[in-house]
Amino acid sequence: MALTFTETPFDRAAPLRGDAIQLRVLMSGARFVPVHDSAHLVDDAPRLLTWDHTQATRVDLTAAVFLGFIGQTPWFALPIADPQPSGTWKGLRELMPLLPGDEVAILSYALAMTTWRRNHLHCGRCGGATTISDGGHSATCPACDHKSFPRTDPVVIALITHAGKCLLGRQAVWPPGFYSCVAGFVEPGETLEDAVRRESFEETGINIGEVRYVASQPWPFPASLMLGFRAEATSTAISRNDQELEDCRWFGKDEVRAFGERGDDAPGFKLPGPYAIARSLIDGWLAE
Ligand SMILES: [Zn+2]
Repeated sequence: MALTFTETPFDRAAPLRGDAIQLRVLMSGARFVPVHDSAHLVDDAPRLLTWDHTQATRVDLTAAVFLGFIGQTPWFALPIADPQPSGTWKGLRELMPLLPGDEVAILSYALAMTTWRRNHLHCGRCGGATTISDGGHSATCPACDHKSFPRTDPVVIALITHAGKCLLGRQAVWPPGFYSCVAGFVEPGETLEDAVRRESFEETGINIGEVRYVASQPWPFPASLMLGFRAEATSTAISRNDQELEDCRWFGKDEVRAFGERGDDAPGFKLPGPYAIARSLIDGWLAE
């Protein structure tokens, strides 16, 4: 099964982003994905706006972000400052269990682009107000010419194994019983493998030998790219050095198979939800 947020149906058509006139022409036949704060407009399915809707409601189209084409149809993300047309707005975490994979991927791309813009209205160099450029895929500062681009923050997440067991931990803020893989942001000057080894040692005290890349997953809360690894431990004594985890343990496969699901009411240990790459890493190990 494909990872959540990976089934994007777009031809991103990046060479068109610099052609503001052509993008304006494309808008007349486009689908617009409205985003208000971090929420999406929904009925039974996500509601899209057409050119006629945008004209009737006088939405500011200068903030639209060109997403690309699905088939022959151009798509844009459209930040809505004033939530018109009225309707029900829901967050992606709430919607993602309910929608097909391609619709979830469309909303996540629109959410990521509009969230970046909302959080980077000013120049990081001189503090001046920026204007969007490249169809919403960059922001330019008229005062100092500094140009910034949408962020993607790499996060390593690793299923650490040794002698038929895997290492799972939990943070105090997580729901009761919920355990997951070691994870953390990649730091400047660090390879992905270095980041896996550092995070493992900081969070669990475990030393890592071989590190093997498995898969990646965009995670738009707000701008992460999850990079999934398998990692082989060369030590087994747990010490929670940075206290990020409140507990961390080695589990055998039969123990993990007996875990409940995140969100169920039963007592005991819980697996990560089916939308998380952590679950995919654990399921892959269980199937070996
Ligand atoms: Zn500037």
